Amino acid sequence: VPDPDLGQLSPPGVTLADVGGLTEVKKRLNQSFLMPMRNPELRATFSKSLRGGLLLWGPPGCGKTFIARAVAGELGASFYEVGLADVLDMYIGSSERNLRSVFETARRNRPCVLFFDELDALGQKRSHLRGAGAMRGVVNQILAELDGASTENEGVFVLAATNHPWDIDSALLRPGRFDRTLLVLPPDREAREAIFALHLQGRPSERIDLGRLAKATEGFSGADVALVCEQATESAMENSMASGFVRPITQSQVLEAAGQVRPS
Ligand code: ATP
Repeated sequence: VPDPDLGQLSPPGVTLADVGGLTEVKKRLNQSFLMPMRNPELRATFSKSLRGGLLLWGPPGCGKTFIARAVAGELGASFYEVGLADVLDMYIGSSERNLRSVFETARRNRPCVLFFDELDALGQKRSHLRGAGAMRGVVNQILAELDGASTENEGVFVLAATNHPWDIDSALLRPGRFDRTLLVLPPDREAREAIFALHLQGRPSERIDLGRLAKATEGFSGADVALVCEQATESAMENSMASGFVRPITQSQVLEAAGQVRPS
């Protein structure tokens, strides 16, 4: 498990404004997470506790990690991403120790968004591979860390993500744990337009009809759209190299790239 030193986990330079589309997700994030975080007095008035974490779920490449980074950016918090599968160790007790040190690192770097990817790695299905008993210890350790005295976790915001919510150990989903869930769906046409705009922004390009690109990329995830933009950019750079001056990205280059990328 990587154990970054202080200062290495600086706040990401992205905010929710950088997330394309997903209007409902952003609204709920604001309402149930960011607004209470930012307003301790209002929280006290309504006796709203900050215990537990937030679970983002949905298909791959649709922005779960990106959203978690944006949450850190919004809160001016450091961002610590941990793949849960990496925490698991075959030796008895090692996984628990790894988890403890992950939480300690997060606390040392607070305010910190601690982001667990692959929360399902602790689920029933995987436990068959490792022995149910061993996995139970790890789940209990994460629960103990989450439940930690509220002052201990002050300033540590725990987010998690999964592509397989049905595999998650149900103990992790009970109230006070990962009890708030947000479904992050593939981008609709409007969202794809926004994602194209974001990923082409700041790059030399001709007038590009974003609506047409969005229409041509039905079924593409956010990551697919990002890849299309990268490929179009590479073509434009190649042309620029060949001609000796900057040739902007063209609409047809983006459409061509879209034809080459297979929607995941
Ligand atoms: P996985 O489940 O595979 O970890 P994920 O849902 O966490 O996938 P991300 O890693 O967040 O997906 O997305 C991959 C990349 O796709 C991001 O770095 C970003 O460039 C782009 N992307 C995805 N969704 C969006 C979005 N809504 N707005 C802007 N960019 C996006």
